[in-house]
Amino acid sequence: LSDRLTDTFRHLRSKGRITESDVNSTIRDIRVALLDADVALPVVRHFTGAVRERALGAEVHEALNPAQQVVKIVNDELVTILGGETRRIAFAKQPPTVIMLAGLQGSGKTTLAGKLAYWLKDQGHTPMLVAADLQRPNAVTQLQVVGERAGVPVYAPERGNVSGYDAAIESRSGTQGFGDPIAVARQGVEEARRQQRDVVIVDTAGRLAIDEALMRQASDIRTAIDPDEVLFVIDAMIGQAAVETADAFQRGVDFTGVVLTKLDGDARGGAALSVAQTTGRPIMFASTGEGVKEFEVFHPDRMASRILDMGDVLTLIEQAERAFDRRQADEMARKFMAEEDFTFDDFLQQMAAIKKMGNLKSMLGMMPGMNQMRDAINALDEREFDRVEAMVRSMTPFERTHPKQINGSRRARIARGSGVQVSEVNALLERFTEAQKMMRQMRRGGGMPGMPGLPG
Ligand code: GDP
Ligand code: MG
Repeated sequence: LSDRLTDTFRHLRSKGRITESDVNSTIRDIRVALLDADVALPVVRHFTGAVRERALGAEVHEALNPAQQVVKIVNDELVTILGGETRRIAFAKQPPTVIMLAGLQGSGKTTLAGKLAYWLKDQGHTPMLVAADLQRPNAVTQLQVVGERAGVPVYAPERGNVSGYDAAIESRSGTQGFGDPIAVARQGVEEARRQQRDVVIVDTAGRLAIDEALMRQASDIRTAIDPDEVLFVIDAMIGQAAVETADAFQRGVDFTGVVLTKLDGDARGGAALSVAQTTGRPIMFASTGEGVKEFEVFHPDRMASRILDMGDVLTLIEQAERAFDRRQADEMARKFMAEEDFTFDDFLQQMAAIKKMGNLKSMLGMMPGMNQMRDAINALDEREFDRVEAMVRSMTPFERTHPKQINGSRRARIARGSGVQVSEVNALLERFTEAQKMMRQMRRGGGMPGMPGLPG
């Protein structure tokens, strides 16, 4: 997947502007890539439509080349659909805040109940768990174990308290269910209120497939406890079935947020896009393992990168956008076109821009087509940058624009002024001459590849 996209973008990178046929062929590749990531077909269609519209529209970001523009559009669109900003739990004004979990069996609800409780407890909340999955006696036991690991109390129906409990345990049938999960959920919330717990998390039953009776049960529990949040829990590995499942739960129970589980697996996360797009509900949390701490707030931007599998490029673009002052880039481009010589002021500006972008070495490694500049700047590390800056600042304006005129006595003065050895000034001048030569070569080669100001 990633290879194919990378090829597409490499192809685009070599062109000066985006044409309709560029967009069309890119869209075709993105389509395949998304289907590979198990995004549902209708979602893929909608998504590619939105990307096409934006890519062909007037919205052109001058600081980026065509390939980067398409990456950015694809990424922005993904992040938008995935929910933009992360949404937080809507806590009730009158505690306890009631959080109900719903989803297919095996999706990770019970595990999540423990994680969520642990996470909330860690932030100073006083959660309680309620075992309202009475389909199988084991489900109650499982939640009790989970609660113990999280160090959080569990409200569960007791043997003998609930009709059918003993019978269910004895028969181990696990199919009929026992007791009244709606009553247990209600009592659990009441118990939490009585104990002045500020959050109560209600675990519910699920089936392996969408099931009318169970959906009704979940809906009845919802009505009985009037939760502040209903979290739909879905396994990231569910693939193409994500849309149908999410749709059924939205119609059957309705939910306020989504939790994506098993992201520690190799699922690409296409389900996230499908669910978010189909239901319009935000994905709030991600579950990344079986342990009680393997849980995090969902980050739409990270998921977008995961779906596209090109995090480095995206990070680079963001950093580049931040670092580049438009005017500076324009000026650099103008000079380039006007065949004015590359001066020490330009050199300084470029280094400052690169420095602003973060770690120099990793930057050079990430930057597509940065190889040419690499030799000229490679020797610079962050510490050395300060010395170079000091040297350039010790030059007169004339020297900065006429580096060839910097003779021995000028070099000695610059070295004194910046507190370095003359040999360092010599090395800098040598490196600068290399960069200048390279700029001339590139200009002869026609056009200006890559980002303005950063010869690509
Ligand atoms: P429920 O039927 O919805 O309550 O699902 P469970 O919480 O019982 O989880 C089903 C299985 O998935 C269990 O074996 C869990 O240990 C496992 N599981 C749950 N969440 C995750 C996760 O994020 N990553 C992994 N690898 N396993 C998980
Ligand atoms: Mg369960």
